[in-house]
Amino acid sequence: MKSIKWRILIRVSAVLIVLFLIIQALDFNNFRNLAINSAKDKALTIALTVKSSLTSLMKLGQIQNRDIFLKSLEENKNVESVKIIRGIPIIKQFGEGRPYEKPTDEIEKMVLVTGKQLDRLEESINKVEYKIVIPYRAENECLQCHKAKVGDVLGAISITMDLTEIRKAALIPLFTTSFVMFIVFIFTAFMIFKFFKPYTDFFRKLKEGLDKAKEGDFSEKIEIDTKDEASLVANAFNEMTQNLSKTLKTIQKKVSYLIGHSIKSTGNALKDSMMIIDELIKIYNFKRVIEKDTSKEEIYKRIRNILMERNIEKYSFYEIEDRHNKLRLVFKNGTENMWCSESILENPDLCRAKRTGMEVDSSEFACICPYFIECSEGIERKHNYHCIPVYVGGKVKNIIQFVYKDEKAQEEIPFIKSYLEEASPVLEAKALLDMLKEQSTVDELTGLYNRRFLEQLIPKLVSQTLRRKSTIGILMIDIDFFKQVNDEYGHDVGDKVLKEIANIIKNSIRESDLAIRYGGEEFMVLLMDVNPEKAVEIAEKIRKRIENKIIAVGSITLRKTASIGVSIFPIDSDQFWQCIKFADVALYKAKEEGRNRVVRFRKEMWESEEY
Ligand code: GH3
Ligand code: MG
Ligand code: MG
Repeated sequence: MKSIKWRILIRVSAVLIVLFLIIQALDFNNFRNLAINSAKDKALTIALTVKSSLTSLMKLGQIQNRDIFLKSLEENKNVESVKIIRGIPIIKQFGEGRPYEKPTDEIEKMVLVTGKQLDRLEESINKVEYKIVIPYRAENECLQCHKAKVGDVLGAISITMDLTEIRKAALIPLFTTSFVMFIVFIFTAFMIFKFFKPYTDFFRKLKEGLDKAKEGDFSEKIEIDTKDEASLVANAFNEMTQNLSKTLKTIQKKVSYLIGHSIKSTGNALKDSMMIIDELIKIYNFKRVIEKDTSKEEIYKRIRNILMERNIEKYSFYEIEDRHNKLRLVFKNGTENMWCSESILENPDLCRAKRTGMEVDSSEFACICPYFIECSEGIERKHNYHCIPVYVGGKVKNIIQFVYKDEKAQEEIPFIKSYLEEASPVLEAKALLDMLKEQSTVDELTGLYNRRFLEQLIPKLVSQTLRRKSTIGILMIDIDFFKQVNDEYGHDVGDKVLKEIANIIKNSIRESDLAIRYGGEEFMVLLMDVNPEKAVEIAEKIRKRIENKIIAVGSITLRKTASIGVSIFPIDSDQFWQCIKFADVALYKAKEEGRNRVVRFRKEMWESEEY
């Protein structure tokens, strides 16, 4: 692209050159016409002189001296030759005469024939020649000597003039004008360059500034001292970039404050602003999504997804289970076993982040937490770790552990922290909800699940058991003559007995089995994946333990027995509630047969089709 000053210079030069050429052409033409006309006048004067002189010579009888006379005329400036050409009446009267008195070219011949004056200009590089041929016509005076009529062409005078010198003289002003024009041109070019320089500089700077602004860099300032429109534009540009830069910085600062961390600047303010707002939107969306999640496990899953999206490869996420005072590994990545010693699961206080409630970062002291797996003896240390406690409801509820080798991974930590901060109140709400739910499904007196829980659980349990082609042993346990306890020792002692028996039941079954307080002094146990023999065996174990238990309440000690009915789902019936009924029927049978015993349900016990 050509600069504006060059474009103007080219146009002005073109105009000047055209003007110069026109002036030169006009000048040259005027001078030429002037030269020819004066040559013509001179020739005509000579012709008239020749005519009257020849007549006089003739009358004086001196015509033989005409050559001397003609030669003397050639002495005139610019006159090359003057010659007389004989016309037909003269040739007839005096003969052809000397060779140079014959016509030598077309125009001389034409003048003799037509009797009209003719002229011709011949120009070449070296020479300019002007020739004029003037006819002589017979007049009364001539008839004394010539045999001719008035008006006959007696001859012609041919005058050739050399105008080379005159042309030379005409060219000198042309050269002078050219030189003056050249000086004018140089001066114009200089003026254009000088005048336009600040403007071309301004455009260049404006272009640079705009290019930088396009890349999000608003640092370019335009300085110009022309005090005209250009400086107004420069000021407006400077003001605009300054405002933009200030606004973007404020946005970044405010959003950084909102999300709790700032981003690494790329030097492109537009890109940085976009990135940080993008981050804010992501966090906002994250919060909106987790608020609608039904359980904290779903939220944990989303936290894990964010770690994966951020390309974090090595991490652990723990939850503190307050009820059992244990640490639960929710998820982990980048290791086969665990990034920490397994002992922290049983004793959460071994986890430094949990115990202190503060971030633990190995970049300060390599083995600040001795329970990091690579801090164990005999294991090579390859990684750094950074553990962050997540507070839920004012207490450390989760621990997130980042394990990394390079700095880059550590840069991601502030981002993840922002997400965790958003997750914290939502997790708190979910934990509260979970607690309420648990409370409404747990029997307050015994700590066993209640009947409502059973009702909620059955659909899921049934479909799962049928799908896995597994079995559930159902035990219906009823304390024998319980009413007597209340009657003899009072309700409080009765409650205590219920608690003790509930504990015996709970401790006699596996973690995966369920103990439910089905009614007043009636319990149900669901034994997962058992065959009928095993179910009866466990029922017997419970019965014996109750029978052998000496229950002490204050000064009172007593013993109780229980009767147990056993049925197996789906062996006895593929209807779960039917199986419960069958267990109840078996329990009734046990009572009937004398109590303190286990009875396995048999088909014949069930007489009616419906219950
Ligand atoms: P059986 O051997 O036939 O089962 O005799 P039983 O006395 O155990 O049977 P019954 O159903 O007649 O009595 C159950 C009693 O359990 C009645 C009620 O007072 C008592 N009971 C039910 N729930 C509670 C409770 O929460 N606390 C106390 N203390 N007693 C309860
Ligand atoms: Mg009962
Ligand atoms: Mg009873």
